[in-house]
Amino acid sequence: MNPIQHGEVFVTEEGAETDLDLGHYERFTGVNARRSDNVTSGRIYSDLIAKERHGDYLGRTVQVIPHVTNLIKQFILNDTGDTDFVLCEIGGTVGDIEGLPFFEAIRQLGHHELRGRSVFVHLTLVPYLAAAKELKTKPTQHSVKELRSIGIQPHILLCRCERPIPASERKKIALFCNLDEDAVIEARDTDTIYRVPINYHKEGLDAQVLKCFGLPHEDEVDLAPWRAVVDAVTKPKGEVTIAVVGKYVTLTDAYKSLIESLDHAGIANRVKVNIKWVNSRHLDREKAEEELGDVAGILVPGGFGSGGAEGKIEAIRYARENRVPYFGICFGMQMAVIETARNVAGIADASSSEFGECHNPLVGLMTEWESSRGRELRSTSSDKGGTMRLGAYLCTLVKGTKAAKMYGEQEISERHRHRYEVNIHYKAQLEKAGMVFSGLSPDGVLPEIVELKDHPWFIGVQFHPEFKSRPFAPHPLFQGFVAAAVKKG
Ligand code: GLN
Repeated sequence: MNPIQHGEVFVTEEGAETDLDLGHYERFTGVNARRSDNVTSGRIYSDLIAKERHGDYLGRTVQVIPHVTNLIKQFILNDTGDTDFVLCEIGGTVGDIEGLPFFEAIRQLGHHELRGRSVFVHLTLVPYLAAAKELKTKPTQHSVKELRSIGIQPHILLCRCERPIPASERKKIALFCNLDEDAVIEARDTDTIYRVPINYHKEGLDAQVLKCFGLPHEDEVDLAPWRAVVDAVTKPKGEVTIAVVGKYVTLTDAYKSLIESLDHAGIANRVKVNIKWVNSRHLDREKAEEELGDVAGILVPGGFGSGGAEGKIEAIRYARENRVPYFGICFGMQMAVIETARNVAGIADASSSEFGECHNPLVGLMTEWESSRGRELRSTSSDKGGTMRLGAYLCTLVKGTKAAKMYGEQEISERHRHRYEVNIHYKAQLEKAGMVFSGLSPDGVLPEIVELKDHPWFIGVQFHPEFKSRPFAPHPLFQGFVAAAVKKG
């Protein structure tokens, strides 16, 4: 998935690389997604072909219907245990070629296996034409028509819009789309995404869903926790600006969980966190002061490849020398180690083997490690897809370090997605240069967290803390980083 086209790759505890929507589900429900919660056409086809080669369909013609659709239905129904409700989202847009087998599969489910026990909620767009000063219901009507042409009549519509939908337009949508007016729910843009549950309740979405299932509903729902979050977001006591230095800054969805985590940290510190996006490809020593001179914190997020890497290293040098709070995530930690190696420890040619062969690989390819699946082996010629160090791994913190103080515990677990590691063989040299290895894998070979001794807040982590931050449980490192930025002012 190209981060600039598709947005972030969200990683689950078990190490599944998924669509960024899974991150929203985790943040909103507080429930960790599982590997079995996300599927792609590629996965379905790959499984289908493996089954066919194995002989599972001997003597039969393998087709999209029923074989692909059966696998999709199995995926939806599989592993649901004793859950009361399964929420199943089909990404994309009705009419997309890629989506057709998925729509056919849910059509069948709704009419057969789950008859009377399923509800179709369709998300549509109600655009506002500023020049004509009117809302257009046609795209919604057409989208529903398209859905009906493949056999699905939605029970509820969620209408995305910028402006309120007047009763007359709602009536029109209901009439043309075969729905009760109450089932046409306004999904208006909000000042903060965390207001959405409150607004949906006001619009009666929960009542409609329960009504469709024939279940009773209560008018009084406890939304106080959401109200408190919205309050903290909308009435901050101050603000702070953080520079995020990366190369995917043209599509900020590439950093979705990161943005949310900074917001959560803002909630915890009661400040608004503004993000200044800095394209690392255009950053060099001369431009550093101009680009970063006015920010209270600098963050280098995850990244891949040599493009823009030197710009990131410059940003890190700037943060270290000017004592600006610095937070390096994954690639941002690796580049921080290279920066200290080059500019403090005097290893001028320090680099990462991700950028090609080098004499001093401060960051190198990991070829062997233990995971929950057993011993993992990799080489430079291994398949690249799905073979990184993925998912939750334990990390042991060193007592007395900033990291240990922030977490308030000794053993933590965080999610990973990377192929390269900081090279433990340079530990002593880096320590001499003022770097502290404050978190290591339990066997002590993989550096997980580094920090700088003589700096107000300079921390790099090999994992992705942004995947675990929640509005009701902001991540301790993001909290600490934003608190340090507030202190700097
Ligand atoms: N490219 C680096 C690696 O593969 C960092 C990956 C990341 O930042 N997620 O190790």
